[in-house]
Amino acid sequence: MTNERDEVHPFEGRVDSPYWDGLGAGELRIQRCQRCERWSWPADWRCPACGGYEFRWERVEPVGRVYSWIRSHLPFVAAYADLVPYVNVLVELPQAGNARIMGLLTGDEDGIRIGAPLTGEFRPASPRTADLPVLTWSIDARAAA
Ligand SMILES: [Zn+2]
Repeated sequence: MTNERDEVHPFEGRVDSPYWDGLGAGELRIQRCQRCERWSWPADWRCPACGGYEFRWERVEPVGRVYSWIRSHLPFVAAYADLVPYVNVLVELPQAGNARIMGLLTGDEDGIRIGAPLTGEFRPASPRTADLPVLTWSIDARAAA
């Protein structure tokens, strides 16, 4: 399934290209409206709160908490078939107005629960990730203790 956001060519023309550039540089960058300061994720061309078109991208520490999670038992993504079952987390980012971002949970699943603290890890582009850098998440056992 694709939508207009995914069909923009070249890739640099996508509304979320600064996010991907950031991952490649080892930074989590989230879109923020210059008019009303609202954090926006997924990125958009127009602010859903105030209607503004001017945005900036702010660096955010890759630290958050589990807003929700799901364990996939079916290989919805062919490149991830060998990882089944795996957990996807919806990560709430307190430093970005509680914007939420999806990601793959890596490492120990013990302690997975709503509100569990998470730390992100930047990973390089690979064939598995469609040649895009990614951010994966793991439970921060020290913060959970
Ligand atoms: Zn706004």
